[in-house]
Amino acid sequence: MIKQCIEDIVKACNGKVVQKGTKDYIEGISTDSRNIEKSSLFIPLIGERFDGHDFIEVAVKNGASAVLYKEGKKIDSEALKDIYIVEVQNTLEALQAISKYYRDLFDIPFIAITGSTGKTSTKDMVSGVLSCKYNVLKNIGNLNNHIGLPLTLFNLAPHHQMAVLEMGMSGFGEILNLTEIARPSIAVITNIGLAHIEHLGSRENIMKAKMEIANYLSDEDYLILNGDNDLLKTLKRQKTSYKKVFFGLDTSNDFYPKNLIDLGEEGFSFDMEIKGKDYNFVIKQPGIHNVYNALAAIWIGLQSKMEVEAIAEGLMNYTPSKMRMEVIQHHDIKIINDAYNASPDSMEAALSVLANMKGNRKIAVLGDMFEMGDFSEKGHRAVGACTVDKTDVLIAVGQEAKWIAEEAMSQGLKNQVYVASTNKEAVEILNNIIKSNDVILVKGSRGMAMEEIVHRLQERS
Ligand code: ATP
Ligand code: MG
Repeated sequence: MIKQCIEDIVKACNGKVVQKGTKDYIEGISTDSRNIEKSSLFIPLIGERFDGHDFIEVAVKNGASAVLYKEGKKIDSEALKDIYIVEVQNTLEALQAISKYYRDLFDIPFIAITGSTGKTSTKDMVSGVLSCKYNVLKNIGNLNNHIGLPLTLFNLAPHHQMAVLEMGMSGFGEILNLTEIARPSIAVITNIGLAHIEHLGSRENIMKAKMEIANYLSDEDYLILNGDNDLLKTLKRQKTSYKKVFFGLDTSNDFYPKNLIDLGEEGFSFDMEIKGKDYNFVIKQPGIHNVYNALAAIWIGLQSKMEVEAIAEGLMNYTPSKMRMEVIQHHDIKIINDAYNASPDSMEAALSVLANMKGNRKIAVLGDMFEMGDFSEKGHRAVGACTVDKTDVLIAVGQEAKWIAEEAMSQGLKNQVYVASTNKEAVEILNNIIKSNDVILVKGSRGMAMEEIVHRLQERS
């Protein structure tokens, strides 16, 4: 973070100085009292389990030189001698307002990415490409929400030339709020699936909520969309003030690959016609969804005035974030660790990768997919149907995953379906059935923590 005057920060969040401190500037902002740097502003947030206001003194002990607090909360100014104390109405809104103020100090392109699945993967691929030419800021890991995105922006520094931001949501208004802060000039929607349907009720509503990302685009700006997605493609006919670019495998899109070759575990090779000439691109990750993410990255690279060769190099060197389709060879078995998260769409994408892997039997260890509300049974059953021609063995883990097993059995995957209620049980089943050269996919919602299964498998001698 560039050093900021307290006065500007106070103005940005409409705060009231109740005590002046000795340092009238800050060099960082944190909401975590354990992880705070010297001369920082501590912003206490109120969560479900914790109230950050209880940690103000710890934050000061650890180096904070200024603190915000919510009006009405008790604050012991004796213990906070020499520290700036600023009162605000709402500390979360203050965090966001300061973040917006800070972002506006930077006149660089901001790229925002949303979608039901593939946000982090696309963010990593886009920033991987852009990093071959530019200094790029991106969200760390999955810090993509109303707190993570503002905190990400505080990492902006003078050397950054571009910013690539992932935006997540679970209901209406959330992407709008993040968009208001980040003001992207290029916005990407990876797809519209079923994730978060519990809150929004229908896929049409999910699309509406994701489209909030386009709210502030000017007529010079771009919305980049997956034109193969059944819902997003309906926007092709719609007139908008901003420019739209559709990417996808289908040649009706503005941006599509030619001579696509599936190299199995090795990934994909394809050509793209750029200014009348064909160029070859290789991505080393299996899973057709990676081709989609790569198309978005190539387009953004070209739009950002990169040489095609540099873009190709960035794609070739791309490695996914942890627990996203990580292929691990352990002795004579192969494990695909996709345990980061799951929705019906990403389950189906992962099952297709499993089906295309070289190996003996394809074993899918699939856990519950959360936050699906009334669609839960339907979504789990759809995944179950998908396992029939893509797996040899299915182990369903958890309460809701039993629908995956039921559907798989009723559609023909009869003798090789197991149901486990815990990760531990799943490991016991696996240890009894694993044979040489088996390929094992492990995937479920974040709350299922299915990486535990991967770790146990990696302990096998
Ligand atoms: P979250 O909402 O948890 O932040 P996300 O949208 O960031 O998720 P990723 O973490 O990028 O999604 O990917 C999750 C999984 O979805 C990957 O491991 C992969 O299996 C699959 N995936 C990645 N890209 C796509 C895509 N474009 N379309 C469908 N599935 C994808
Ligand atoms: Mg993500």
